[in-house]
Amino acid sequence: MAVPPVPSAEAGDTVIRIRGLSKWFGKFQALRDITLDVRRGERIVICGPSGSGKSTLIRCLNRLEAHQAGTVVVDGVELNDSLKNIGAVRKDIGMVFQHFNLFPHLTVLENCMLAPIWARKCPRAEAEATARRFLERVRIGDQASKYPGQLSGGQQQRVAIARALCMAPNIMLFDEPTSALDPEMVKEVLDTMVELAKDGMTMLCVTHEMGFARAVADRVIFMDRGEIVEEAPPDEFFSRPKSERTRRFLDQIL
Ligand code: ADP
Ligand code: MG
Repeated sequence: MAVPPVPSAEAGDTVIRIRGLSKWFGKFQALRDITLDVRRGERIVICGPSGSGKSTLIRCLNRLEAHQAGTVVVDGVELNDSLKNIGAVRKDIGMVFQHFNLFPHLTVLENCMLAPIWARKCPRAEAEATARRFLERVRIGDQASKYPGQLSGGQQQRVAIARALCMAPNIMLFDEPTSALDPEMVKEVLDTMVELAKDGMTMLCVTHEMGFARAVADRVIFMDRGEIVEEAPPDEFFSRPKSERTRRFLDQIL
């Protein structure tokens, strides 16, 4: 396992530092003055209504979107126009999307080996050994020679998680990883994420799976209209939401 098992209570240093982040698409402001620190080993759940800026926020963390105001610093590297910085940050961050984005013409194993070989110049045999290890870890080792289309949605999403882990990221971003899955497959993906959390991975998860939030989140962040409206540990967030907007949201989803 590439991630040292550091319990979050002992974790400390800030790995993501966001200050006054704002983002516009044309004239539309999608993010408003976001300030957030994430400590190493912290597990953060981000929730909020559709269109509130959750995906945009996490996409700004690996420069899939560029911001126009404020600063984003990941592991000491500021995200700006510098391709060198963008490359350095992307090496550090794994991302899992709602739609698994696996390469359909490559086997499960090849999907997991591709980036280590091409982006990290990892020798083939080593890339294969790493891929097999992480596929075992997400309990899908026996599917290595299949193609994505031959797997269930839950299995494909676990491949996507294994593929991200093969790059040995320090931080994992999840954008609604279970919302495209049939209900019976949600648990197997959440279980994988819970294990990752227990291993001390720094995680930011956009999800409305509030059971997951209660089980592993150190903090829950509620976004609305491009702003962070509220953030609190899960107990407090669910039992004593401070803002009316949060209460209305929780009433709808719980
Ligand atoms: P969420 O993930 O919370 O549903 P998003 O971050 O995807 O919200 O989107 C926030 C807002 O930004 C929405 O109003 C959305 O329509 C808008 N938006 C997102 N991506 C783009 C884009 N590429 N071009 C224009 N508007 C966008
Ligand atoms: Mg989204």
